[in-house]
Amino acid sequence: MRIDIISVFPEIIKNFFKHSILKRSQDKGLVEVHMHSLREYSIDKHRRVDDYPFGGGAGMILKCEPIDRAISLLKSQRNYDEIIYTSPDGEIFNQQIANSFSLYHNLIILCGHYKGIDFRIRENLITKEISIGDYVLSGGELASVIICDTIVRLIPGVINDEQSALSDSFQDNLLAPPIYTRPSDYKGWIVPSILLSGHKKKIKDWELQQSIKRTRLLRPHL
Ligand code: SAH
Repeated sequence: MRIDIISVFPEIIKNFFKHSILKRSQDKGLVEVHMHSLREYSIDKHRRVDDYPFGGGAGMILKCEPIDRAISLLKSQRNYDEIIYTSPDGEIFNQQIANSFSLYHNLIILCGHYKGIDFRIRENLITKEISIGDYVLSGGELASVIICDTIVRLIPGVINDEQSALSDSFQDNLLAPPIYTRPSDYKGWIVPSILLSGHKKKIKDWELQQSIKRTRLLRPHL
């Protein structure tokens, strides 16, 4: 999978891709991430990417021209499955959307900033608008990292034990069961004895019961 991220502040996010699973996915050659600084696509001599809103009001708006130039150049080089704009009024991101994105080959993620982007970009170039929740961030950079992190770990081969991604919360609409590691007795806090029993089938049953119980309690709508 190739992911192109367009942002006014790519430096904010570069570090996230240099560690842990996001790094490993690139080292294994399963994912390519390309950051694009919006300023590089500005033809303005001061590299300006924002301007005042028509109709007045507070805040600056990212202009059409640099965004259009960045997206058009990428589209001339390959086909994209989706051109995503991170937006508080977009479709709320969840595991099902992540599963479907993880099957794509090429994705563009456009991060807004300031007051947002000129609406004509959303109408004419964006194919999907994604929100990470009903609250407002200063920019789409963190949202883009959250989307990337969630989808990349679903790509087969990225996580060594593929079961591990499939048994996470929200796959099958169930939350994960409680998990424990050694020692089995820490300060008198005891691990449920069934997990030490060695009965694979009984352990699976117990984990499923716990998942159902926690889902009913914490996410009944699932
Ligand atoms: N004026 C906008 C908010 C702009 S916030 C409004 O009222 O809807 C600046 C940028 O941050 C947005 O362009 C968007 O790219 C990003 N952003 C803010 N909140 C977000 C969220 N919940 N999910 C995804 N992106 C978000």
